[in-house]
Amino acid sequence: MTAAQVRGLTRDFGDRRVLDGLDVTVGEGEFVALLGRSGSGKSTLLRVLAGLDDTGSEGVGGEVDVPGSVAVAFQEPRLLPWRSVTDNVALGLHRPDAREIALATLDEVGLRERADAWPLTLSGGEAQRASLARALVREPSLLLLDEPFGALDALTRIAMHRLVLDLWERHGMGILLVTHDVDEALVLADRVLVLDGGRIVADHAPGPRPREDVGALRHRVLGELG
Ligand code: ADP
Ligand code: MG
Repeated sequence: MTAAQVRGLTRDFGDRRVLDGLDVTVGEGEFVALLGRSGSGKSTLLRVLAGLDDTGSEGVGGEVDVPGSVAVAFQEPRLLPWRSVTDNVALGLHRPDAREIALATLDEVGLRERADAWPLTLSGGEAQRASLARALVREPSLLLLDEPFGALDALTRIAMHRLVLDLWERHGMGILLVTHDVDEALVLADRVLVLDGGRIVADHAPGPRPREDVGALRHRVLGELG
């Protein structure tokens, strides 16, 4: 079983080919990180996986199979400012117990005490926790994270790393984490992919966790990033 399978994906913007026959597999419950320079097409790939750019529509070719439910969290949390944190998380959960589920999930991400707060009063880390909760309530079998910690300070980022590993171990969903932070990718993921020239040019398995010393692989991956 796979959480996502992509074969020969192409994505053109006008006459510019951004993804050029790309293959990616995310196994069921697998944590995969995708590294690539800015503009290499990481977000473009996530958009396709999230169903925001369908294969078969103009400029998109190849095969994309995402059998289960998908949720996305972006670098910019995009919370609705005029709705409480709980409402933001519950929004889109069309069921009578949506609020209870939202509160339980906020508890899980360590944000229960901010449940009634307005999004604009949250710190960067708190907003990112809310964004994760909003993704989690959908019970995704594939969680797409697009540079979710890029705007956070170093200490907050480390706390978020711990939280994501925790949630991943508890829920067992597949994760595709897009990042340009090599250490983040090497410390968190089962597999680390490098995207360059519209294709995956490297696929590393950093080994068993906990994984503190990634020095040797870091050197290699930095080279592959060009
Ligand atoms: P990354 O996330 O790796 O930084 P993106 O996937 O956002 O890169 O973008 C890859 C390339 O595709 C960039 O050159 C970007 O300008 C281009 N691109 C992305 N979206 C569009 C769009 N809607 N229209 C035209 N060009 C786009
Ligand atoms: Mg991007």
